Amino acid sequence: MPKGLGGTAKIMNVVFPNSELNCRYCGACCAFSENWPRFTLEDNAAIENIPWELVNEQETGMRCYKDRCAALEGKIGTLTSCSIHPNRPIVCRDCKPGEETCLIARRRFGLNNKGSRPS
Ligand code: SF4
Ligand code: SF4
Repeated sequence: MPKGLGGTAKIMNVVFPNSELNCRYCGACCAFSENWPRFTLEDNAAIENIPWELVNEQETGMRCYKDRCAALEGKIGTLTSCSIHPNRPIVCRDCKPGEETCLIARRRFGLNNKGSRPS
């Protein structure tokens, strides 16, 4: 996992004014590591808002299937969404499109750093 991937906001349906990237057509950082996203400052109530089957057995983060978060829906680079968007972990909120960690994740999937809507 690239340094900082866990520390930065991803909002799936929002195009940030400082970036041409749209998480809705990406999802790369949601499928980058079997160890991400981890819970950080979440309290028990926040974790309990996430369906138990989407939380890992240690309750330290989201369950992953290989590198892909269990809450990620759709096809990476085409159309994606987060099934727990209102309750997603803090590190997911902090991963912002256009930041270095975002671009590292996108490159892994062959996605460029400009617009992300497929043609
Ligand atoms: S890699 Fe970047 S553009 Fe893609 S979903 Fe994550 S934050 Fe959004
Ligand atoms: S919880 Fe949602 S935003 Fe966070 S990695 Fe999983 S699918 Fe992506």
